[in-house]
Amino acid sequence: MNSIPAQPEKIVLYPDPVLTRPAEPVEVFDEGLQILVARMMELMREAQGAGLAAPQVGISRRLFVTEVDSGPEEPPHPTVFINPELELSGALVSFEEGCLSIPDVRVTVRRPQVARIRAFDVHGQPFEIQDEDFLARVWQHEYDHLEGVLITNRMSPRDRLANRRTLKEMVLDFEEDSRS
Ligand code: ZN
Repeated sequence: MNSIPAQPEKIVLYPDPVLTRPAEPVEVFDEGLQILVARMMELMREAQGAGLAAPQVGISRRLFVTEVDSGPEEPPHPTVFINPELELSGALVSFEEGCLSIPDVRVTVRRPQVARIRAFDVHGQPFEIQDEDFLARVWQHEYDHLEGVLITNRMSPRDRLANRRTLKEMVLDFEEDSRS
C-alpha cells in the first residue's frame, strides 16, 4: 500500500461498490495525500456537505474531511481525520441524515450523542478531540463510510419504504452508466 492514486474528479454515487467496501488504512503521509485532502475539501464545499469520506471519491482509504460551522468564540475544528478511531457514549439520539453519495434520500438514524475521536492529521501527527450532537454525528456518519456502511444500511422499515423508488432509480442509473 503506497501513495495515493490520481486526483478524484467527482463524488461517487450509490450503489458504486467502492462505497460498501471497508477502506484500507493510510500508510504514507506524502504529498499525494495532501493533494487528495485538498481535493476532497473542494468537492465537499462544492456539494455543500458537512463531511466527505475518501471512499466517496472512489478511494478506499481510511480518511475523511469535515467542515462544520463553529461559533466565532470556538477554535477551528480540525478538518481532516486520517485512520480515525471513535469512542462513543451518551444517549442514543434520532436525527435525519443525508449523504452526498445518495442525494434526495433522507434517513433518520439513531446514534450516540457523544463521540471522542482519535486520528492523524495530514502530516501524520496524532490528535484527539471530543464533541457532541451535530459534529459527533458527522464523525459517526463519515466513519461508517470507512467501514463500507451507508445510511441505507441504517434505514427503518418506514424509511426503506419511503426511499425505495429513489434508490431503485439510482441502481438503474448506475447500471446504465456502467454499461456506457
Ligand atoms: Zn455519507
